[in-house]
Amino acid sequence: MGHGKTYLISVVLPTPAHSHLPQILSYRHSESLIKGALVRAPLGKRELLGMVWACEPAIGDTLDDAIKPITWVLPLPVLAQPWCDLVEFTAKYYQRTLGEIAMTALPPQLRELDALQMTRKLTKFAKKLKTQDAVGDDSIRVALSSEQQLAFNQLSDGDVRPALLFGATGSGKTEVYLCRLEAILKADAQAQVLVMVPEINLTPQLESRFKARIEARFGLDSVVLMHSGLTPAQRVQSWLAAHMGQARVVLGTRLAVLASMPRLRLIVVDEEHDPSYKSQDGARYSARDLAVYRGNRESVQVILGSATPSIETWHNAQSNDGKLARYRRIDMPSRIDSTAMPEVRLIDLRVHKKKSLFGECLVPEIVDAIQARAARGEQSLLFLNRRGYAPVLTCSSCDWKSACPNCSAYQVFHKQERRLRCHHCALVTPVPRACPECGDVDIGMQGRGTEQLEEVLAGQLGKHLRVLRLDADSTKLKGSLEAQMALVHSGEVDVLVGTQMVTKGHDFRRISLVVAVNPDSALYAADFRAPERLFSLLMQAAGRAGRDVAVSVQAQVWLQTAHPEHALYQALKKHDYPAFANQQLTERTAANMPPTSYQALLRAEAKTQELAQAFLEQAALCMENAALTHGITLYPAVPMPMQRIAKVERAQMLVESPSRAALQQFLAAWQPYLRELKMGGVLRWALDVDPLTI
Ligand SMILES: [Zn+2]
Ligand SMILES: [Zn+2]
Repeated sequence: MGHGKTYLISVVLPTPAHSHLPQILSYRHSESLIKGALVRAPLGKRELLGMVWACEPAIGDTLDDAIKPITWVLPLPVLAQPWCDLVEFTAKYYQRTLGEIAMTALPPQLRELDALQMTRKLTKFAKKLKTQDAVGDDSIRVALSSEQQLAFNQLSDGDVRPALLFGATGSGKTEVYLCRLEAILKADAQAQVLVMVPEINLTPQLESRFKARIEARFGLDSVVLMHSGLTPAQRVQSWLAAHMGQARVVLGTRLAVLASMPRLRLIVVDEEHDPSYKSQDGARYSARDLAVYRGNRESVQVILGSATPSIETWHNAQSNDGKLARYRRIDMPSRIDSTAMPEVRLIDLRVHKKKSLFGECLVPEIVDAIQARAARGEQSLLFLNRRGYAPVLTCSSCDWKSACPNCSAYQVFHKQERRLRCHHCALVTPVPRACPECGDVDIGMQGRGTEQLEEVLAGQLGKHLRVLRLDADSTKLKGSLEAQMALVHSGEVDVLVGTQMVTKGHDFRRISLVVAVNPDSALYAADFRAPERLFSLLMQAAGRAGRDVAVSVQAQVWLQTAHPEHALYQALKKHDYPAFANQQLTERTAANMPPTSYQALLRAEAKTQELAQAFLEQAALCMENAALTHGITLYPAVPMPMQRIAKVERAQMLVESPSRAALQQFLAAWQPYLRELKMGGVLRWALDVDPLTI
């Protein structure tokens, strides 16, 4: 080693939980390195991107020869301490390794760039910085309504608690976010703001609205995007811009919560109730919850916006026994354009059943209503949460159904392509001419999907009305969603038919009738969060209607239901989210369910259901005593609601506790046992903390 000083460097590398490697590995380097520096280091035959976690001088030449040198230190500013804390918290809370979280937070391409490429990228950045100048144009700012102004004032009053901006659809929440973030960016020339939206809401319209507003005042490239649809090169650009402080606003989906933003001053989580904030694979973190943690840790304001907040957030915004609520609530109940909220009509299917021409599909009144709207130049939106033509094919002679051979699901009949498709494993097979079991040619259909709804409507409405279907099938090709949206906006379409995809994020100015064709299916689902999701979906759908003052009559939302008396529909009729949320909260409290208890799921996948469950039972066995002392309830292993996907059997075990801390302690103690457990035919296992679906 000669006379030079040597340092012992602890490096966080992407070592997954099930590998038996430690989270932090030791290397040597000739210079001292700061925590948060990015390095390249050898591991086995590979060379990996890692992050320095600690550094200390080696005493004399005592370093073990087995300790290898760091290959290369990336020429970038180090990741700040609060960011390292965020990574550490996320890893601990969601039971992952530091390296897994750190590396999911970094753009993948950063792992591949060599020294030369990195230098080039950085030079490009320096050039850009010189050319960008704030334009300082205030002209596009619109006047706030009194409610918006009030909300803005409250957000500026210095209260450090996370704010729930509880605003009706169409109440102009986005404008309030924009004003608040502009004020922050103006007050501090280096301040940065993170704005998160659900996956589906990151539309080109929203992007251009933000860019137009912010770049006019704070310079070109002051807004960057962060979502999984970017190319690897774009991801690196956005990440660097945020990390180097050049980007003033990061607009992104859930993964943006882990962006490195050294001058972060505000976090906005729009549509905070949206399930897409919780990742369903990998680290399974909740970006909304992490946003609240991050805001608290970095003393940064957090705004959670929604017309239908999650029950957890609603709970946090309630004051208990005169104590200050954890979140403050700011209400914006009115629509910005002062149009009335749409009228909600419940169509009782029990009354209509016999008169209906299409069975459960549509009552005749609906066809009349669509025609009346079209005659006035208005549009109608019908949604049904099933794509394809018919969800199941059946044989009338025997019990045959179009079950997917790989999954515990049916293959869906797609009429236009004459195929059966499994929506879970993507298996595609031709439609059988006769029953594969008994040979009967009389194969029938069960249930209806969007494709059939489109066909039925087109037939009933006649050729002069234009029906457009919008679902995952009709928008498969890149750019086709935008093209179809353009048709809707330009008035080329009279009736829009789709899955719940059409209810989110898009502003349809001319729609004055929204019909939920079959909302009941979610009403009595096993999942205790199903009503919450249904309410928010229907509320969102209602929010699509009547946004345009040009629409002549009050917009209407029709729900076809066999349970019109249900409390959920009654609250929806009055647009009374608080009534619904409070009732849900009471029910959940009585049943000791979240948010009054805390949950985690241990999931296992195996070739057979028995093996998957055996693994879970074995995992429970080694913690029986610990569960007792921690006050943890371990439920029996059961098949997952979707028991089999692509020939893999899935099982889960629910872990529950009245105390978040106790649950955390228990899970941390469980980890080493889980890692040592014999896999015995188990392909994968994973812990899901605060799972959204059970
Ligand atoms: Zn048959
Ligand atoms: Zn399948």
